[in-house]
Amino acid sequence: MNALNRLKPLTRLVKPLLLAATLAAAAPTATAQERVLNLYSARHYQTDEALYANFTKATGIRINRVEADDAGILARLKAEGAASPADVILLVDAARLWRGEQEGLFQPVKSAVLERRVPPQLRGGDTGAGPQWVAVSTRARVIVYDKSALKASDVDSYDKLASPALKGKICVRSGSHPYNLSLFGSMLERHGAARTEAWLKGVAGNLARAPKGGDTDQIRSVAAGECAVAISNSYYYARLLRSQKPEDREAVARTAVVFPDQAGAGTHVNISGAAVARNAKNRDAAVAFVEYLTSDEAQRMLADGNNEYPAVTGLNTDNPALVAMGRFKAETVPIAKVGAATAQVQQMLDRVGFK
Ligand code: FE
Repeated sequence: MNALNRLKPLTRLVKPLLLAATLAAAAPTATAQERVLNLYSARHYQTDEALYANFTKATGIRINRVEADDAGILARLKAEGAASPADVILLVDAARLWRGEQEGLFQPVKSAVLERRVPPQLRGGDTGAGPQWVAVSTRARVIVYDKSALKASDVDSYDKLASPALKGKICVRSGSHPYNLSLFGSMLERHGAARTEAWLKGVAGNLARAPKGGDTDQIRSVAAGECAVAISNSYYYARLLRSQKPEDREAVARTAVVFPDQAGAGTHVNISGAAVARNAKNRDAAVAFVEYLTSDEAQRMLADGNNEYPAVTGLNTDNPALVAMGRFKAETVPIAKVGAATAQVQQMLDRVGFK
C-alpha cells in the first residue's frame, strides 16, 4: 500500500465538506475558498479536535483534516506537488519538519504574532522572509531508569549513556527514529562531530538488545527488568503516570525519570510544529490558523492533549503528571539547527552500527 492510500480523510468531515461544496457553487469563488482550510496533521489527539472546533467557531473557517504520520504527509505533499490542496501542515518532530523544509514543501511566514509568541530557538529555517515552520508544543527526551538497579546520578546526563557502567543496560527504539535523530542532532550541535560519533558508538555498545518498539515499550522493558535504562519522550512517561491500569501503575512504581543535563546544557527538547504549505490556496486563513495555535487557549489544549509542554514561554502547565515530573531546564540549541544536523547524524549511525 502506498502512502497516499494510507491517508484517510475523516468520515465525520464529509458532511461539512459537502456543505462547503454547495456553498462554493452558490457563492463567489474567492469567498467560498476562504471558508475552508485543508489541514494535513500527524497529531491524532481528541483535544486537537476541540481546538479546531473553537477556531471554526471564532472565524467561520472550516477545517478539513487529513491524518497520516509525518512520513506519509511528506510523501503525499511531494506527490501532489503544485496541485496539493494542503494549506497547513502539522508534524510531530524537528527532523521531519526540517526534511519538509529541505524538500520545498513549505513557505516562509512573516507574522508579528508568531514572532512575539514563539521563541526564536523554536522556529524553522529563516532566510529573511520568516520561518518555514514554528513549534506549537514541546516534549523533553528524558531518561527512565530502574530504581532498584541504579541511582538518578548514574543517568543524569546524556554523556553517561555511553559510560562503561551502563554496559548491556540500555533499551532504546531505533537510532534512526526521528526522536533519536533529533536528540543526536542536538548532541552534534553541542559537542561537534568527533565527540558525538564516539558517544554514539558508546551508547550503541551499551544496548541491552537490538532496538525495537516505541518509547513506551522501552519503559515497559525497564519495568520488566530486561534493561535498566530507557530513553523516552516525556509524554509517554506522563501517560503512564496518569494511567489507572495495574500494569502501568506497576511500571511507574518500579521506575523513575530524569531530565538529563540539568547541570549542563539542559534537556533536549523536540517539538510538534506547524507550517504553511508551499502551494496553500488559502494562505491568509492558514497563517491565521497557525497564529491561533499559539494563543493561550490553543497552547493549553495542544500541550494537555498529549501531556506536552506549551511552546509559548511563560505558560505553565497544570497537567498533574507533568507537575509530578517537575520543572526542568531545557536546552537552548535552536531546533532548526537540530533538524539540520540529523542528516550527518544518520551517517554516523551507519558507521557505528547503531540501527
Ligand atoms: Fe510520539
